[in-house]
Amino acid sequence: MPSTLLTDASRRLEKAAQYAPISEDATERLKFPKASLKVAIPVRMDNGSLRVFEGYRVRYDDTRGPTKGGIRFHPNVSLDEVQSLAFWMTFKCAAVNLPFGGAKGGITLNPKTLSKFELERLSRGYIDAIASFIGPDLDIPAPDVYTNAMIMGWMMDQYSIIKGKRSPAVITGKPVSMGGSLGRDTATGKGAFFVVQAMMQKLDKSPEQMSVAVQGFGNAGSAIARQLFAAGYKVVAVSDSQGGIYNRNGLHIPDIQQFKQTYHKMQAVYCRDSVCSIVDHDNVTNEELLALDVDILIPAALENQITAENAHSIQAKYIFEVANGPVSADADAILEAKGISLFPDILVNAGGVMVSHFEWVQNRSGLYWQLEQVEKELLERITKESVTIWKIAHQHEVSFRTAAYIHALSRLGEALNDRGTRDYYNS
Ligand code: NAD
Repeated sequence: MPSTLLTDASRRLEKAAQYAPISEDATERLKFPKASLKVAIPVRMDNGSLRVFEGYRVRYDDTRGPTKGGIRFHPNVSLDEVQSLAFWMTFKCAAVNLPFGGAKGGITLNPKTLSKFELERLSRGYIDAIASFIGPDLDIPAPDVYTNAMIMGWMMDQYSIIKGKRSPAVITGKPVSMGGSLGRDTATGKGAFFVVQAMMQKLDKSPEQMSVAVQGFGNAGSAIARQLFAAGYKVVAVSDSQGGIYNRNGLHIPDIQQFKQTYHKMQAVYCRDSVCSIVDHDNVTNEELLALDVDILIPAALENQITAENAHSIQAKYIFEVANGPVSADADAILEAKGISLFPDILVNAGGVMVSHFEWVQNRSGLYWQLEQVEKELLERITKESVTIWKIAHQHEVSFRTAAYIHALSRLGEALNDRGTRDYYNS
């Protein structure tokens, strides 16, 4: 494992393996992705020129079921990143007991530089290139950074054209009109909110006591910020890639979101009907936001935001990882030494893939659920796994991250061991 991200993943695996009932063979197996595909996607641009983009799809492990994971459009997408994200998906699906393995995909580009027509041709071209690598019983993609429901709809449509039959279960996070699930758009933020609530209950803290900073105001970050605001938490800072806004007395999250949707700009605002006025605030950089003196810090943007370089400056008491891999393995140790409790990505952001599972079930059965059913199932399941991970952490006196990995590894280990171990073959 030469790369940093995968090395971090491997270190976490080895730490948890000390406590989980898993054979050495199984741990060794989990250090390597099952299959990695790199593709070139030629796209005819609007001006008539041809551009070729590089894309990836990695199926990390399918011991517990078909693989599942999002598709990311971002300039930093690389094979290393996609493999690491696929590794995390394997553990995430096991941690919350979904009948899926882990996968991930991506295209290396800045999607903001493409027209809508070019983006559609690219999305369909990506599916042309990976169609034989995915499928409802093989590997099921979903949205991730800078991809959305419409893109998932184009991709499902393209896969159906290639296969000559309608195949909604090949991809989740689709528009509701094309077989998407109610509640999928806000599922990651809502699931993360349920985890925060479960942990605050264990810690005997009430929302009014807690100040919160959220880095990243996209799909996941804005949804959890809105949920926390509605529940009475004081959300004092939010940011996007341009920077952040801070007010120690709290920000009005729904108004900020309404303003951002209309003007594509983040401002500290208070709105009455459609008239918004700017309220008192400080502008903060993303680096400053991470170091704010708050109770809860929520990194919800990209990976590796808190590393050995800036972990010393973190003042929050609790970190909930809504993004995938926002804290490096080196930073984990520093935060732990500072007494900061970190709740890991593979639990906190699992709401997205849980509702994706519900969508896949609905597509296969042809019976569609009401929003109340989606939210009830999500609340019950993610709360149950949160409480179990809390107990494992206290039982073994380990971090919540290690506890979540122990929990996932126990399920993965059972499935791998049941296929035969060294002891079985040597007996
Ligand atoms: P998104 O594209 O909707 O939003 C990303 C946000 O982060 C944007 O507001 C962007 O401006 C901001 N951002 C980008 N670079 C930043 C930086 N350097 N500092 C601060 N903000 C920055 O993406 P998303 O779907 O919300 O995903 C965010 C994270 O959550 C990713 O790590 C993703 O893997 C993870 N996640 C998302 C889902 C989901 O269902 N959307 C599920 C699980 C995990």
